[in-house]
Amino acid sequence: MEKLSIVVPCYNEEDVIDIFYDKLIEITAKISDKYDYEIVFIDDGSSDKTFSKMKSLREKNSKIKIISFSRNFGKEAGIYAGLGSSVGDLVVVMDADLQHPPELILDMIKYIEEGYDTVATRRINRKGEPIFSSFCASMFYKLINKFMEIKLEEGAQDFRMMKRNVVDAILSLDEYNRFSKGIFSWVGFKCKYIEVENVKRAAGKTKWSFGSLWKYAMEGITSFTTAPLKIATIIGILVFVISTIFAFTIIIQTLILGKDVPGYASTIVSVLFMGAIQLLCVGILSEYISKMYMEIKDRPKYIIKEKRN
Ligand code: UDP
Ligand code: MG
Repeated sequence: MEKLSIVVPCYNEEDVIDIFYDKLIEITAKISDKYDYEIVFIDDGSSDKTFSKMKSLREKNSKIKIISFSRNFGKEAGIYAGLGSSVGDLVVVMDADLQHPPELILDMIKYIEEGYDTVATRRINRKGEPIFSSFCASMFYKLINKFMEIKLEEGAQDFRMMKRNVVDAILSLDEYNRFSKGIFSWVGFKCKYIEVENVKRAAGKTKWSFGSLWKYAMEGITSFTTAPLKIATIIGILVFVISTIFAFTIIIQTLILGKDVPGYASTIVSVLFMGAIQLLCVGILSEYISKMYMEIKDRPKYIIKEKRN
């Protein structure tokens, strides 16, 4: 019998974890003739009762594994830890808030049996989300797909089933700055996307703010493309050409036409312009340097406080 591992990163999910578990068990019962299962809960440093709820679920069901982090390390770290301790032939990663309907696991298994290596969901709309965030998100995908050699599927969610070899490939990318969407796409394999409607959280609150979305977007860009660095170089060359032409015109004007009254406007504009361009390029550079800095330190991606196997 094959084994299905269900990896669930949880951060302050005390309101939903029990409902989620009940739903999940209904689904695993439906496939029990063919698949054994294990549930890997990652408690990402929750400050509420998430961990104790996990422990009481485990007392009922020994197929539950728990990894509890010493503090909040972020969902990506949670996914990495969960994948690392999963042993199934098939592994599915999903959120605890029921935005990833457990019944889709059945469809995913069907596609895997048809020969796909990985199956993920893609939402076809962003209903119920702030318009501004949706707009920014869609701009982000357009931009990033233009510059990256890998393609990020717009609307692709972190609800994903993978065969063992895909999981091993993902684990072999052990970078500190983990941008899962990019990593999933980078490793390749034959992937099937199931189109789904956007589902609202069952309970609790989302942990995303505009600031964290911005950080996420930056992470995506700097992890998978160096295009911004090239753009900085191109801007530099352009500005150099323009200012050379400008300098020559001024010299010629002064020497031949004897025009020596300095222009306040042109001086201040070029000083400000040059300053802005330089700060922009330094900013781009520092994005990459800060990422390199964190990678070079080679710190662990998470620290485990407690574990139940
Ligand atoms: N999550 C996590 N660590 C975090 C933030 C979120 O493990 O620092 C988990 C969270 O418990 C949930 C999943 O990641 O199971 C998705 O989080 P959320 O619902 O807040 O994000 P959204 O669905 O809005 O993208
Ligand atoms: Mg959610």
